Amino acid sequence: MTPLWTRRQVLAQMGMAAAAIHTLDPHEICCVTPAHAETAGKDLFDLKKVADGVYAAIAAPRYKVNCNAAVIMTNDGVIVCDSHSKPSAARVLYEEIRTITKQPIKKIINTHFHWDHWQGNEVYANANPGVEVLATERTRENLTKADAGVGGVPYIEKQIAALPAEIGKLKEDIQRESDPARKANLESNLQQAEEFLAELKNLKPALPTRTISTTTMLREGGRDIQLHVLGRAHTSGDLFISLPKEKVVVTGDALIDWMPFMNDGYPAEWPGTLTALEKVPFEHIIPGHGDVRPRSHLAFFRAYFVDLIAAVKKAARAGATLEEMKTKIGDELSGKYETGFSKYPLGRYRDRVGGNVEVVYSKVVKGA
Ligand SMILES: [Zn+2]
Ligand SMILES: [Zn+2]
Repeated sequence: MTPLWTRRQVLAQMGMAAAAIHTLDPHEICCVTPAHAETAGKDLFDLKKVADGVYAAIAAPRYKVNCNAAVIMTNDGVIVCDSHSKPSAARVLYEEIRTITKQPIKKIINTHFHWDHWQGNEVYANANPGVEVLATERTRENLTKADAGVGGVPYIEKQIAALPAEIGKLKEDIQRESDPARKANLESNLQQAEEFLAELKNLKPALPTRTISTTTMLREGGRDIQLHVLGRAHTSGDLFISLPKEKVVVTGDALIDWMPFMNDGYPAEWPGTLTALEKVPFEHIIPGHGDVRPRSHLAFFRAYFVDLIAAVKKAARAGATLEEMKTKIGDELSGKYETGFSKYPLGRYRDRVGGNVEVVYSKVVKGA
C-alpha cells in the first residue's frame, strides 16, 4: 500500500519545508504548443504498439512538457514506466489503459527523479491500492533531497513558487500580442500554466515503495522484465527497463530523441553507461522524449557526447572563452547532429547545444 501523504506532510517529515527556492530550468519549459488546451488523449500522447502487449505513450508537445510512458501488459496486471508531469496527464493515459484491459496497475517504475517523469504517480497509486512504485535507491534519495536538481518533492515547492511570475509574464505577453494565432497560443499556455499550478498545489507525492541498487530480473505474469542499473548518465540514479523476449528497452532521459539535458547529469560517464546498455539485447527504444527509435539511435546519441567532450577539451586547450566555445562548437558539430536532434518543437539542437557545452566545460574540463 502506498501512503499518500500531502506534499506538506512529506516536506515536514523530511524537515525540508524551508527548501531553498531556485529558478526553474528554462530547458524543461515548453513554449511551443498547439493552441488548444483540452486534455483529450490525442492532445497529450499517441499510444503506439511496440510489441505484443507493450505500448509507448509518446507525449505530444504541451506548455509543460510531459515525458513518454511505457505500458507493459502482463497476465495479472499492468506495469507503467514513468507517469508524466502531472496527475491529469497520467489520468488520461490510465483511462486509455482501462479501455485495453481491466487488469489492475500493479507496478509503476520511475526511470529517474525529474519532475516530468513522476509527478503523475499518485493517479495509479490512488486507483490501485496494491501498486508498487519502483526506482533505484539513488532516485528515491534524489526525490527527497533538497538540491538534487529539477525534480523531487522539494522541487514541487520550487515550481509553485516560480509559477506566479511565469503566469504574470504570460498575461503581459497576451496584452502585447496583436497576431491572433500567437495570442490564442499564449492564451492556451496561460490556461495550461494556471491549471498546472492548481494541480501542483494538490499533489500527493507517491514515492517509491521498493528500491533496487543492482540489475534485477522481474518475472511478472508471464513476462520477463529486466531492470538495469548500469551507471550514471542523465542522473545519478538512471534505471533502464528491458524486455529481453520482446526486444524493447525503456531508457528514460539517458537516451532520448531530443538533445540531451545534462544539467543534473554526468557527461563524462554517460557514454560508458550507454556502452553498457548496448550489451542488452533490444531492437526498439522507448525513449523519455521523442519517438520510438531503432537500436542504431544509441550509437548516434553516444557519439554526440564523445564528439562534444573532445571539442570542448580542444577549445579549452586553445584558450577559447566559454561564449566562444558555445558558438564555435555549436557550428562545428551541426553537420553531424543538427538534423537528427531537431525533429520536434522541443529539445532541438540549437536550443540546447550551448547549455551542453557549458555543462561539459564545468563538469568535465574544469571539474577534471
Ligand atoms: Zn524528461
Ligand atoms: Zn530527465
